[in-house]
Amino acid sequence: MTQNLDRHLDGRVALVTGASRGIGRAIALKLARRGAKVACVATSADRARDTAEQCAAFGVKASPFGVDAARTAAVTELVNQVVAEFGGLDILVNNAGITRDQLILRMSEDEFDQVIATNLKGAWNFCRAGARTLMKSHGRIVNISSVVGLTGNAGQSNYAASKAGLIGLTRSLAKELASRGVCVNAVAPGFIETDMTAALDEKARAGLLESIPLDRIGTTEEIALAVDFLVGPGGAYITGQTLVVDGGLSI
Ligand code: NAP
Repeated sequence: MTQNLDRHLDGRVALVTGASRGIGRAIALKLARRGAKVACVATSADRARDTAEQCAAFGVKASPFGVDAARTAAVTELVNQVVAEFGGLDILVNNAGITRDQLILRMSEDEFDQVIATNLKGAWNFCRAGARTLMKSHGRIVNISSVVGLTGNAGQSNYAASKAGLIGLTRSLAKELASRGVCVNAVAPGFIETDMTAALDEKARAGLLESIPLDRIGTTEEIALAVDFLVGPGGAYITGQTLVVDGGLSI
């Protein structure tokens, strides 16, 4: 019985962006462990190869793919390729993201544009390219937002705007695709230990820790478990929501 529950995504096809490392890698591995076939996407197939090999170790089909999430035509081509190779699409996780932090007086137009193009337009690109197939499969979409999309953060006007935008995208698509049985949700992580947060110095880290009620940094596994819940049986009647996984940081 437990065995069956563990493999609750048996045979489903999942596409995870930003799967080369950090949160995306943890999500890809979690879905593979649950029995899903996984298309692991990063900026190049080479970068996603290691994750795909680790996914395949769970006995599922898994392949690495490379694309710049910001490039609409290339993303459409890649999603079509995945659908053809894997025989469909049931789960889309838009996790690819970058930061280019700077106070607004110092932020360049390019730094703003890059973050919006990757984080927000990138997710829209994948949603648009996958929508028709996800409607057929009554699939699930999970967009990885951030608590700063809800609270804002000094020095992250570009990033916070992209992450707030993802919540608007999530709610809109939830309304648009509900009649076709597609659930669309967002996960908003707080401070999670990855390459993205490794750059913080000890002082900034200590300051952040002070504002986390649970008094610790989160793990990639904890975000993967939230995604696992939303794409599994527990998420069947949940759509348009943002699940905050932040140790209480935003309360
Ligand atoms: P990370 O370790 O920096 O990894 C970022 C991932 O995104 C990599 O797989 C990277 O691929 C991919 N990527 C970046 N630009 C891309 C592009 N243009 N096209 C395709 N893929 C691209 O990040 P992370 O910390 O795991 O964060 C994952 C997501 O969670 C992000 O959306 C981030 O904003 C969000 N988040 C993170 C935290 C945190 O505390 N870490 C908190 C809240 C939200 P390559 O390896 O090929 O570059």
